Amino acid sequence: MRIFSGLRVILFGVLCAAATLVARAGETVYLVARAGETVYHSDVVVLGSGAAGLSAAVAAAETGAKVMVLEKMPVVGGSSVFAADYVTAIGKRAEAVAGKELSVESLYKEIVRSGGGRNDPELIEKLLLMTDDAYEWLTSMGASLARPVPVREGGEWAGFRTDTKGTTVGVEVVKALLRSAEDRRIPIETLAPASEILMEKGAVAGVRVTDMRGGTFIIRSPAVVIATGSYAANPDMVRMHAGKESRQYTALNFTTNAPGCTGDGLILGHMAGAAVRDLELLEFHPTTIATTGDIIPSSVRSRGAILVNQQGKRFVNELDKRRAVVAETEKQPGHVAWLIADEKIVEQESLLQESSYQLAAVTGATEEELARRMRVDPETFKETLRTYREGLLKGKDAFGRRTMESDLSAVPLYAFPVRSAVHGTSGGLVADEHAHVQNEEGKPIPGLYAAGDVMSGLNGLERVSGMGIAAAVVFGREAGYCASRFARPDLPVPESRRMIPSGYTLRLDPRCRPDEP
Ligand SMILES: Cc1cc2nc3c(=O)[nH]c(=O)nc-3n(C[C@H](O)[C@H](O)[C@H](O)COP(=O)(O)OP(=O)(O)OC[C@H]3O[C@@H](n4cnc5c(N)ncnc54)[C@H](O)[C@@H]3O)c2cc1C
Repeated sequence: MRIFSGLRVILFGVLCAAATLVARAGETVYLVARAGETVYHSDVVVLGSGAAGLSAAVAAAETGAKVMVLEKMPVVGGSSVFAADYVTAIGKRAEAVAGKELSVESLYKEIVRSGGGRNDPELIEKLLLMTDDAYEWLTSMGASLARPVPVREGGEWAGFRTDTKGTTVGVEVVKALLRSAEDRRIPIETLAPASEILMEKGAVAGVRVTDMRGGTFIIRSPAVVIATGSYAANPDMVRMHAGKESRQYTALNFTTNAPGCTGDGLILGHMAGAAVRDLELLEFHPTTIATTGDIIPSSVRSRGAILVNQQGKRFVNELDKRRAVVAETEKQPGHVAWLIADEKIVEQESLLQESSYQLAAVTGATEEELARRMRVDPETFKETLRTYREGLLKGKDAFGRRTMESDLSAVPLYAFPVRSAVHGTSGGLVADEHAHVQNEEGKPIPGLYAAGDVMSGLNGLERVSGMGIAAAVVFGREAGYCASRFARPDLPVPESRRMIPSGYTLRLDPRCRPDEP
């Protein structure tokens, strides 16, 4: 233990006094500022600049509160900018855009089924009641999200993509939020990782930030929103928590997440007294390009693409839960597979037209040519396609797959080399439906909020596609709003808070459990 000398204690006192000087008049600062540490002030500080953090910041600013965003990486957006599939929304506005009736009950059941019942019903209900409002909020900021796309087999809800060419849903959402943050003059500090949440008498008092040169500064704030994403890009944490089933997966060596997603917020929150749960719940994605790590969205499989192994044989219902597809892929030779698509699918999925995907793909003008380029036996491959088409005519194939939009006959044919990767972490900080972080006793920690991938309880075993961005925006907004109400109860309730949610009266049975685990 280091013992302070008398001189150090005096110096320490002087530094505390200096910190008090920069505080607002009449405020007592108990924070211990270190030598040379500047103290700034904000009503709300947001950690992380993905969809959750930016939503929190904009929502807090909408109330009139002073808000600041800290981002540890040199660029903003986190994993949110990688979202290339779709964003789910359910409600009257989404119905109008999708042009069909949607069933909130069926989506609720799918979330619980996919999560193996390990979801918190209150969080799901909050999410489902608010996605429509979040959808409206994003589009009112200029996000173009008007193109409905197919969701997993038989789903009676809707996924939306952007109409804007050359961009993805994640980029579109982050860009809209950034524009709104800019309009509201919200400072966003990059290369500014939060390294400590400062507490005073059991309540949040601010954050300490470490800059890239190792220097530190303090932001004094009564409310902090943790929106630091998952810990999927922290291989040590991932290995430490991987469950029995996934511990041997080669997929543990790869991730689809942004490099900043290393679990910082989880540790910072826990050190500040937050409860943490379900850290063993890792999510995997079965189709990332083996050479580049780029993700091939699930909609490519929904449109008709199939997986074959290095012998040219199918081995799984490609539309089964991601974890089931990953488990089967891990059993194949080399733990890799080929994702087979045709020209029709590539035309519908603009991402696959990008050069990094095209360069990774093997193509063939005929089935035989493609097989030879994949180095699989042409006869086996042709037989695989023939059986697949037979299933398509019957409406159900040998693996139980029912949706086969394409018969894989539009040439050229494509084979993308794919492997599985860690796609997310379902565990994290425990927070209630108002994004208020709880301590081990289940009591809210005054001033501490969490949203997005750092929050636990929503997804359980596996997140339903399209729910990542929706959850980040819904709970980010809630966190930002509640944090600002906590910090500045004197401010009036903003108009945006008075928007009417989904239009549904959701009377779901909280005991609703999946038909199958
Ligand atoms: C490849 C990929 C594709 C996906 N596709 C879809 C999709 O199509 N549809 C969908 O709905 N969902 C999709 N998801 C999931 C979705 O992107 C996430 O659920 C969502 O983006 C999470 O947002 P977030 O704000 O919580 O985290 P992030 O967007 O990851 O943001 C977290 C930010 O916090 C920063 N940070 C970390 N530590 C600190 C610190 N100490 N101080 C300050 N900042 C810090 C990180 O650098 C990062 O920028 C996809 C995810 C991936 C990885």
